[in-house]
Amino acid sequence: MVDVTPVEPLQLGLEGMPRRLFACTPSRLTTWQDCPRRYRLTYLERPPGVRGSAWAHKTLGAAVHVALARWWSEPRARRTPLTARTLLERAWPRAGGPPDGFADDAQSAQWRVRAGEMVERYAATLDPDDEPVAVERTVSMRTDALALSGRVDRLDRRGDELVVVDYKTGRTPAADDDARGSLTLGLYALAAARTLRGRCTRVELHHLPTGRVVAHDHSDASLAAHLARAESLADQATSATEDVAAGTDADLAFPPRTSSTCGWCDFLRVCPAGQAAAGAPRRPWDGLAAALPTSDEAA
Ligand code: SF4
Repeated sequence: MVDVTPVEPLQLGLEGMPRRLFACTPSRLTTWQDCPRRYRLTYLERPPGVRGSAWAHKTLGAAVHVALARWWSEPRARRTPLTARTLLERAWPRAGGPPDGFADDAQSAQWRVRAGEMVERYAATLDPDDEPVAVERTVSMRTDALALSGRVDRLDRRGDELVVVDYKTGRTPAADDDARGSLTLGLYALAAARTLRGRCTRVELHHLPTGRVVAHDHSDASLAAHLARAESLADQATSATEDVAAGTDADLAFPPRTSSTCGWCDFLRVCPAGQAAAGAPRRPWDGLAAALPTSDEAA
């Protein structure tokens, strides 16, 4: 899923005045939740924090998303599994282009084939006549505290309801609880309902390597809980920004929160705490080993 809200610094409210709406994507909120330092380097630093090189597994994921989005733009007769593979090939970065995280052209070509097989298998499960309500659609909503927007991979209609569909390309299949607990999916359901003026309570993770779908049907209460969580995170992030403006050291207001994900963090090179937690440095293509099962595993 691709975030679309432009990066912008927070505007601070004057004392006694209500705060401005916190403009954000779900990704911005979850970044704050995962690691305040990464949040600062991603969204607040000017110029932006220096990122590491591209990751090959992210390049793969982006190409898959592009291919599946374009598949629905094809004429009905061309919505075939083979077309999905062709679109993946077209979306794949060309040899000699900008850095894409692959070790070399041979490795890139090998993974292009595997990703092509994956989208072909997935497209074979789709009904080309079952047109989605929207593909790569930006949805948005406002509350008293948030101006939230983001782009949904796919919105289906089942009966009278909208369904949020999110593609996953990582090797680990989504767990049963992942759809229920995903703040991002909950917010997308709320924003989709608001933008398209329909009811949207069902969210689905489509794990392409295995074809497994993990779904959850939210209640109004569970969606309200996600929204309350989002507003709380926004409030925390705003308070930290205000603290820095008032003189607090940025490393205190936005502390590193180390975890097993530090090794994949774009800012590892400038984060000593993350380096200590990450262990051996990862190469830009190391995530590929976790990106797709082998053909045998997928069969
Ligand atoms: S390396 Fe880890 S602790 Fe450092 S910014 Fe990244 S996620 Fe946060």
